[in-house]
Amino acid sequence: MSDIARTCWWLLEAMSHPEFRGDPAPALKGDTTADVVIVGGGYTGMWAAWHLKQADPGLDVVLLERDECGFGPSGRNGGFINGFYDHAGELYELFGRDGALAMVDAGAQTIAELASWMTDNGVDAWFHQDGYIGVASAPRQRGGWEEPLAVARELGIDDHYEQLDKAALDRYCESPVFEGGHLVRDGGTVHPGRLARGLRRRLVEIGVRVYEHTPAEPLGPAPRVEVRTPGGTVKAGQAVVGANAWMGTWKGFGNRIVARGSYMAITAPAPERLAAINWTTGVSIYDYRSAIRYLRTTDDGRIALGVGGERGTWTGAIGPSFDFDETGTRHAVEAIHRFFPSFRDVPIEARWGGPIDVSGTHQPFVGTMPGGRIHYGVGYTGNGVGPAHLVGKILAARATGRETAETRLPIVDMEPRRWPPEPFRSVGAVITNAAIVNRDNRLDEGQGVDPVTEFLAKLPRRMGYNIGP
Ligand SMILES: Cc1cc2nc3c(=O)[nH]c(=O)nc-3n(C[C@H](O)[C@H](O)[C@H](O)COP(=O)(O)OP(=O)(O)OC[C@H]3O[C@@H](n4cnc5c(N)ncnc54)[C@H](O)[C@@H]3O)c2cc1C
Repeated sequence: MSDIARTCWWLLEAMSHPEFRGDPAPALKGDTTADVVIVGGGYTGMWAAWHLKQADPGLDVVLLERDECGFGPSGRNGGFINGFYDHAGELYELFGRDGALAMVDAGAQTIAELASWMTDNGVDAWFHQDGYIGVASAPRQRGGWEEPLAVARELGIDDHYEQLDKAALDRYCESPVFEGGHLVRDGGTVHPGRLARGLRRRLVEIGVRVYEHTPAEPLGPAPRVEVRTPGGTVKAGQAVVGANAWMGTWKGFGNRIVARGSYMAITAPAPERLAAINWTTGVSIYDYRSAIRYLRTTDDGRIALGVGGERGTWTGAIGPSFDFDETGTRHAVEAIHRFFPSFRDVPIEARWGGPIDVSGTHQPFVGTMPGGRIHYGVGYTGNGVGPAHLVGKILAARATGRETAETRLPIVDMEPRRWPPEPFRSVGAVITNAAIVNRDNRLDEGQGVDPVTEFLAKLPRRMGYNIGP
């Protein structure tokens, strides 16, 4: 088991059960051929493999993963399955009313499909569909619910939302610092490690040829598909790429995604303390900061809390600091203790992190490289658990030449807003990132923000990127 599986509680838990651990997959040794080769064994690549086999069980599908399937962010995330309800405003701006509604509907359908898939395939991934709540976790965040609720009314989907005053919020989860918020009824949560490893098991069972510890060389525009790895080459009719933040160093993608770290901490079980703060349903929570905090409970009575947008990278490369960062994970622990003083003496059992593929629009985008055979989906910006299922379905349709309702969604063939060229991109990402987190922290503590930090934190949005305050 790799180090990350020992650090990330979700993976550690999943890998302790034979049905999620499964048998080790071999590394690719020698050359081979396939109908479709997939690069990346996270949700995107694995759902693409699943949907390819659903479309045609006879297809020969090869999946290449540089580590082990699900050991990237797919097995380590917060497990929120949100669809697109809370992104309705961004989608409205990007795609207009019809496009936004099509995306919101597709996101809702994805949640339903994921729920049935887990039931039908016997994958117990602790799924709950109790909704999620946006909260003001400091006085200056009050009113953070107004914009999502106004957009929902404008789009006519407000029956899925509910404003919560402090008393109503306390009935879901009581914290001395939560000041009110809004509930979105449709969201769900999942145990991400179990979902990823359960999906891997089913892929092996239905005949997908999985090769792990097999890093593929980056792909680029080409008339033929030939994927090189250290142990051999795969020639295929079509390719699907779901390599997430790692694609930031691939030619043609560096200016479309930048990597940022998100870090999590999880407590020991304390179900009686959750009951004392009324947090007994599967409802998940995030706050209205730009550098968001997201929190949920687990079936065995823990709190897992993550902090977003904590770290940039100077080179675009995904180094070990994305797996673990002392400062980022400490911020997660501090937030647990600030939100829930009764958890201050509950041990923290694990801390870990992972890279987020931030796109300039905050939305994933799906495309096909020139040459017409290599299809990719990336740019989830920390909201990929549900959307990667949808994107995997689109990629499978693309690779088999089918047009479907999903392939007509506006994220398909969308050109995301490009990030500036290097060295401005990496330097800018690190500096503005630090300013955004610093600004959030100071405002939450009721302190002032100096003009330089204010300027830097707001710079990305002024430049037209959907990031920061
Ligand atoms: C800490 C954290 C918390 C998050 N919380 C949430 C959440 O609560 N809800 C939500 O919706 N989203 C969340 N996300 C985001 C979500 O996890 C991702 O959007 C989603 O997992 C993306 O899936 P993916 O398959 O595209 O990418 P990944 O899971 O990153 O999979 C990509 C895979 O490709 C492999 N790979 C890369 N390069 C190569 C190569 N050259 N050859 C072979 N293999 C390669 C990687 O090893 C990796 O396994 C979170 C992310 C993190 C890090």
